[in-house]
Amino acid sequence: MSKVALVTGGTRGIGEAISIALRNAGYTVAANYAGNDEAAAKFTAETGIKAYKWSVADYEACVAGVAQVEADLGPVAVLINNAGITRDAMFHKMTPQMWGEVINTNLTGLYNMTHPVWSGMRDRKFGRVINISSINGQKGQAGQVNYSAAKAGDIGFTRALAQEGARAGITVNAICPGYIGTDMVRAIDEKVLNERIIPQIPVGRLGEPSEIARTVVFLAADEAGFITGSTISANGGQFFS
Ligand code: NDP
Repeated sequence: MSKVALVTGGTRGIGEAISIALRNAGYTVAANYAGNDEAAAKFTAETGIKAYKWSVADYEACVAGVAQVEADLGPVAVLINNAGITRDAMFHKMTPQMWGEVINTNLTGLYNMTHPVWSGMRDRKFGRVINISSINGQKGQAGQVNYSAAKAGDIGFTRALAQEGARAGITVNAICPGYIGTDMVRAIDEKVLNERIIPQIPVGRLGEPSEIARTVVFLAADEAGFITGSTISANGGQFFS
């Protein structure tokens, strides 16, 4: 029987590429999303992968969502915490709402999603939790104090939980993408992207979602069992940590 992989934010951008790559690697995939029904319907029509709508920022919704996925497909063996948002502003203009939305989705979302699958993974003595952090959680980014704080928190979450899961056959790792060509990055002003961001990337281009997905498939494999608590950078050489 193929293992079940649950990908949050799995219907668009990097998450879509992860869902497809895991499906192609033989997993039964469930793709979660927050509210873009049109994108989710298109994704399911094109891939045949079932999409499930709930917010990772809502703990009760995550518990119910995981229960639904497990009832439909079987126990979750691989969890990809990929869902994320930006609410960018310089700090002096950052409202409590902008701070809270990003922390609740990008950091608390990891607790909300991992907690409901954790006991099952412990009981079955196998699990893979892969958290999509960011280069900006490693180096910090002006205009993204909320996002950088949440993404740095994802790395701390990964390192601590990896120690708890190790004896139970559960690995917990983080991937830190650099700038990847998705809606999130296309939302950046084109002039800023072309004149300030891309020139800082040694390979001279944005990353592809499939390049992050490939890293996820690698970490999800049974053979990756000795890799845990790690942070893997995939950023075109932009930052070394
Ligand atoms: P996109 O904006 O393209 O897609 C985001 C996905 O997350 C969508 O499927 C969206 O659902 C979902 N989502 C957002 N909020 C929630 C929520 N509360 N509950 C459930 N799902 C939610 O983002 P990217 O693909 O660019 O980013 C994916 C991850 O990679 C994020 O964590 C991001 O921070 C990280 N990352 C991205 C980089 C980049 O350059 N693009 C660089 C470094 C890290 P819906 O379709 O319903 O809106």
